[in-house]
Amino acid sequence: MAVDLLVVGAGFAGSVVAERMAAAGKSVVVMDRREHIAGNAYDEPDSRGILIHRYGPHIFHTNSREVFDYLSAFTAWRPYEHRVLAQVEGQLLPIPINLDTVNRLYGLALDEEGLKDYFERVRDPRPEIRTSEDVIVNTVGWDLYRKFYQGYTRKQWGLDPSELFASVASRVPVRTNRDDRYFTDTYQAMPLDGYTAMFSRMLDNPRITLALGEDFRSVRETVSARHIVYTGPVDEYFDSVFGKLPYRSLTFEHEQLPGVATFQPVGTVNYPNDHAYTRITEFKHLTGQEHPDTSIVREYPQATGDPYYPIPRPENDALYARYRELAEKEKGVSFVGRLAQYRYYNMDQVVGAALSAARGLLEGGL
Ligand code: FAD
Ligand code: UDP
Repeated sequence: MAVDLLVVGAGFAGSVVAERMAAAGKSVVVMDRREHIAGNAYDEPDSRGILIHRYGPHIFHTNSREVFDYLSAFTAWRPYEHRVLAQVEGQLLPIPINLDTVNRLYGLALDEEGLKDYFERVRDPRPEIRTSEDVIVNTVGWDLYRKFYQGYTRKQWGLDPSELFASVASRVPVRTNRDDRYFTDTYQAMPLDGYTAMFSRMLDNPRITLALGEDFRSVRETVSARHIVYTGPVDEYFDSVFGKLPYRSLTFEHEQLPGVATFQPVGTVNYPNDHAYTRITEFKHLTGQEHPDTSIVREYPQATGDPYYPIPRPENDALYARYRELAEKEKGVSFVGRLAQYRYYNMDQVVGAALSAARGLLEGGL
C-alpha cells in the first residue's frame, strides 16, 4: 500500500482528517478495526426500524461556527435541544440543577434571587477548586451534591468526585433560572439522516479507500504511507511501555419496547442513586422519529472493555504526559482525537482538533 496518508480510525477524528486531505488531492486509506465507519457516533436502524446509537446517546452541540458550517456540507440538521431529568427521592427533577429542581425537591417557592441567597447559605466555600467535589459543594452545598452528583459520579467513574478533576462535574452547570436545557451552545442539532449517513458522505471520495475490520496492529509493519494519523488509544500505539492508561468503559443494554410510543418524558433520565446503570436514553426524542414502538438504552459503567472515556485525574494526566512526549517524537505520525490525545472531548472538539491537524499537515507540505 503506497498512499499519502493512512488514517487509523473512522470516527470523527479520522474521518474529518481524511475528508480534508482527500479534498486537497491526497490519497488516503482509512482503516478501522470495527466493521463500520463513524466510530462511537455510529447509528443504525434496529430490527424495528428505529434509529439507535449503538455506543450510547450522541447529541451534537457546539459554539463553533466553523465546526457547524464544516459538518453542514455533509448533512442537513434537525434542531434539537436536549433535556435531562434526574430521578431523586421518587421525583423526576431537572438536571442541570435549576430553580425548579430546588423548589420541587424541597417544596419551596423561591424566585431567582431567593435561590441565589439559598445557595449562598448552603454552599461550602472552597478556597481552591481542584476536584469535582470542590466545584459542586462550593456552588450548591452538600445535600444537592449527595443527591445529584456523588452517586452518579461514583457509578460512572468508579471514583469519588474528590478524586476527579473539577472539569468533570463542571461539564454540568448549576443555574438559578428555569432554563432546563442540558446544553446552551449556539448550535444544537442532530444530523437529519443520522451520524452514519453524514460520515458516509464525508468519506465518499474516490481518493479515499476504506479498510474496515482491519486492525492497525496487524498491518503496521507493512504499511507504506507518507504520513499516519492515529486516532486509537495512545498507550496501545506504544505497546503500553509505561503501563496502561486507564479508560472507563460501558456496557450498553439496548431494549425495544413494542407498542410503547413514549417510554419517558425527555431524551435522557439520569439515575444518580438507584440501579447499576447511570442513565436511560430514549432515541426517538433525539431523532424526532415517529414510530408506534420505541427503543431505549441503559448505560452500565465498567472498569474493563472498549475504551470510551479518558479518566481526568492527576495520576492519569501524569502518565499521559509521558506518552505525549513519545507521541511528539514519533516521526511521520499525528495523534488526534479523544483516545489518542487522552482528552474528554465532545464531538465538536474532536472535529475542531481534526480540522486543525489537517491544516497543519497541508501547511507542512504533505
Ligand atoms: P472514536 O469515535 O472512538 O473513533 C476511534 C476509532 O478508532 C474507533 O472506531 C476504533 O475502532 C478505531 N481504532 C482504534 N484503534 C484502532 C486500531 N488499532 N486499528 C484500527 N482502528 C482502530 N460527544 C458529544 O459531543 N455529545 C454527546 O452527546 C456525546 N455522547 C457520548 C456518549 C458516550 C457513551 C460516549 C462514549 C461518548 C460520547 N461523546 C459525545 C463523545 C464522542 O463519542 C467523542 O468525542 C467522539 O466520538 C470521538 O471521536 P474520535 O474519532 O476521537 O474517537
Ligand atoms: N454528573 C452527575 N450527575 C448527573 C450528571 C452528571 O454527577 O446527573 C457528573 C458525572 O460525574 C458525569 C459528569 O458530571 O460523569 C459529566 O456529565 P455528562 O452528562 O457531561 O457526561 P457524559 O455525557 O460525557 O457521559
